[in-house]
Amino acid sequence: AFRALLARKTESGQAIALEQITEADLPAGDVTVDVEYSSFNYKDGLALKGLGRILRTFPMVPGIDFAGTVRASDNAGFKAGDKVVLTGWGVGESWSGGFAERARVKGEWLVKLPVGLSTRQAMAIGTAGLTAMLCADALERYGITPGGDVLVTGAAGGVGSVAVRVLSRLGYKVSALTGRRGEADFLTGLGASAIVDRADYASPGKPLAGERWAGAVDTAGGAILANVLAATAYGGAVAACGLAASSELATTVFPFILRNVALLGVDSVNCPTARRLAAWERLATLLTEADFALVTHEVELEALPALAGDILAGHVRGRTIVAVRPH
Ligand code: NAP
Repeated sequence: AFRALLARKTESGQAIALEQITEADLPAGDVTVDVEYSSFNYKDGLALKGLGRILRTFPMVPGIDFAGTVRASDNAGFKAGDKVVLTGWGVGESWSGGFAERARVKGEWLVKLPVGLSTRQAMAIGTAGLTAMLCADALERYGITPGGDVLVTGAAGGVGSVAVRVLSRLGYKVSALTGRRGEADFLTGLGASAIVDRADYASPGKPLAGERWAGAVDTAGGAILANVLAATAYGGAVAACGLAASSELATTVFPFILRNVALLGVDSVNCPTARRLAAWERLATLLTEADFALVTHEVELEALPALAGDILAGHVRGRTIVAVRPH
């Protein structure tokens, strides 16, 4: 038996508890992994709170990310001892995930750890960091090159903080939009050259504003995304990946038809393998140990139910690593 944070269905919704389970409780994948670290994302907060219809079947081990060592494999691509990372693919939603000492998944979902990256560092990145990289990739692919100013919203959160670090390291001049003035030093330390007050973008604004941003990464949605689109310069692009403010988007066509602005959707869950592997390789080269230390804090499984409310309220700084095995 091994430890797992398990979500069970109850009459009033769901209950989460730390339990001892066995491999018979895991789904029938072809690779079994000894999980060393997981991480805590906004979506995990929704899952543990029973919000957003994240957990699809019960009982279910939540946790959309994990990294660890292959224990047993019937998949030709993996053998016992391989270091692997998993993000997305519905794991921790409709397939038991990372908040347990063991996981069994489909080998095709696993990524071998890039050289130089530990399982702990992989979880400092996790779904949020991978998404940040995919957003930077999307802006680049669209032709947004370093030069003009780029904006990152929800900057002190998981996706946002990694996006600030990665974009600044790629040579972009990054402004960080945050609701937490107290995180200004943290964001400057990650490479932000200016701090933008969330309040300036939080209320519905004009269809077009001054052409301020060459590009943006938006984790917020809602009025913030609409205002970012309105303030994007001619030919610019916004990579939209989140809904921390709202899943709604009330905008006009003017940024698109008068300024040639592009809205680029970014999904990490079903991101094709080739693009995913390239993003992991890039993250491994772009981020340093000092970055990981700055952007993360570590908790154990026991702490997660209480942390769910904190992350949904926007109170968590950077990335949260989950040490799945007590040390
Ligand atoms: P997180 O760590 O909680 O970061 C979210 C940040 O958004 C907060 O730290 C806060 O930053 C800001 N925020 C919170 N509430 C807000 C509000 N009401 N209005 C405006 N800003 C608010 O979460 P995360 O894990 O980075 O995820 C961020 C978002 O991206 C979530 O919506 C998540 O679902 C989404 N996401 C999508 C994908 C994908 O594949 N598309 C992958 C990962 C995450 P400040 O305090 O700095 O303002």
